[in-house]
Amino acid sequence: MDNLIRILRSFSEGEEDKAFTENFVDILKGKVMTDVQRMYERGLTFRDNKVVFPPPWESIYASLKEIGFFKRFIPVNFGGNRTNEENIYFIMELLGYTCPSLGIIFVAHSRAIDLILAGKDEAQKKKFISRLRDGDFGAIAMTEERAGSDATAIEFSATKEGDYYIFNGEKTFVSNAGLASIYTILVNTRGKKGGRSLSVFVVEDKAEGFRLGVLSEKDGFKILPTGKLIYKNCLVPKENLVGDEGRGLLLALDAIDKGRILLAGVACGLGYRIFDEVFKYSRKRIQFDHPLTTSQDISFKMSDMHTQINAARGLCFHALKQINSPCYRSASSQAKLFATQMVTSVAQLGLMIMGGRAYFKNNIISLLSADARGMEYLEGTSSMQKMIISRELFKSYT
Ligand SMILES: Cc1cc2nc3c(=O)[nH]c(=O)nc-3n(C[C@H](O)[C@H](O)[C@H](O)COP(=O)(O)OP(=O)(O)OC[C@H]3O[C@@H](n4cnc5c(N)ncnc54)[C@H](O)[C@@H]3O)c2cc1C
Repeated sequence: MDNLIRILRSFSEGEEDKAFTENFVDILKGKVMTDVQRMYERGLTFRDNKVVFPPPWESIYASLKEIGFFKRFIPVNFGGNRTNEENIYFIMELLGYTCPSLGIIFVAHSRAIDLILAGKDEAQKKKFISRLRDGDFGAIAMTEERAGSDATAIEFSATKEGDYYIFNGEKTFVSNAGLASIYTILVNTRGKKGGRSLSVFVVEDKAEGFRLGVLSEKDGFKILPTGKLIYKNCLVPKENLVGDEGRGLLLALDAIDKGRILLAGVACGLGYRIFDEVFKYSRKRIQFDHPLTTSQDISFKMSDMHTQINAARGLCFHALKQINSPCYRSASSQAKLFATQMVTSVAQLGLMIMGGRAYFKNNIISLLSADARGMEYLEGTSSMQKMIISRELFKSYT
């Protein structure tokens, strides 16, 4: 963890930034690291369209808000202090290390912010971004029962009537469902299948006709709220349309491009955490009169783990350097593809080194491995990343 903290410190500029970093590190080293396993074991419950977290979530949330953590994701001209993307990336590594669910919560939150910022209506941006700056959570809802990897199959209907759009449909697998008070939603405004029929809206959780649907329990990310958003004849004001009608898919894909590198950061942080836990264990575990680390097979497995994590991180650093260049889409997809596959394979090696203990519920490595396994689904599966990479690659060669 110290290695991750050191690099975050090196990307903190100015007194205010440095003070923030120290406060942030204190919260992670204290409350989060101490209680993450207990929170994961207790999990989440849902009540009255809201999610209920186990303690000490409220205290973690209050501390993060107090140090201005929510402002980190907001540009300076909207009252935030999003100074550089590297800084946010290294924050995500630390969240991935200490509590991957928290990492995903903030990846989803930051994607909602990017999506709203991609719109054109300054009053709309001001209204919603200020709330996300001050501690409200955001979410992005694209997936439907029949539209997963293929967003062009989205059927959720939004029909215009006067000054409103009438929402009817369901979104599923939505991160931050029940936590967010601001949902960005990709819907079909033309009634025809296809990307040009899709538009983005920003919708508050209090909207009449909205209800939260609960999904069955996940294997991992035990304190990441994931649920269904169900809308029945819900009236959404026309000024909640983000950008132009029919341009929603492009806006959403751009926001996801930005979020992908943060997700890769969570994967790298999680990889280092698994490595550290496994190392701690294998140094203490005596078999054949020696610690496990003295076995060449174990030490080679650990070398492989560390090499893979560092390689993934190298791709992330490369992608961070491409932000604002035409190569960024491909670079961030490569980083996400490699880092999320890496963390699954690192977890698999970790499980082997931990022996039978890791097969039992609530062992730290089994908890972290379940998170690792979930990483590949987010922001487009590995196959979808390969689709993006090959498309961009072929474009650059022709
Ligand atoms: C923990 C978690 C959090 C999530 N959070 C969100 C969220 O906040 N917002 C949101 O909108 N969604 C969210 N999702 C949904 C996620 O984005 C989808 O699971 C993902 O896009 C894949 O869709 P699917 O599960 O329907 O799989 P499918 O699209 O049915 O795909 C199944 C398999 O087939 C492969 N496949 C599909 N088409 C092709 C093809 N043409 N060529 C090759 N392979 C193909 C896929 O790669 C995958 O391996 C979340 C999912 C999880 C697990």
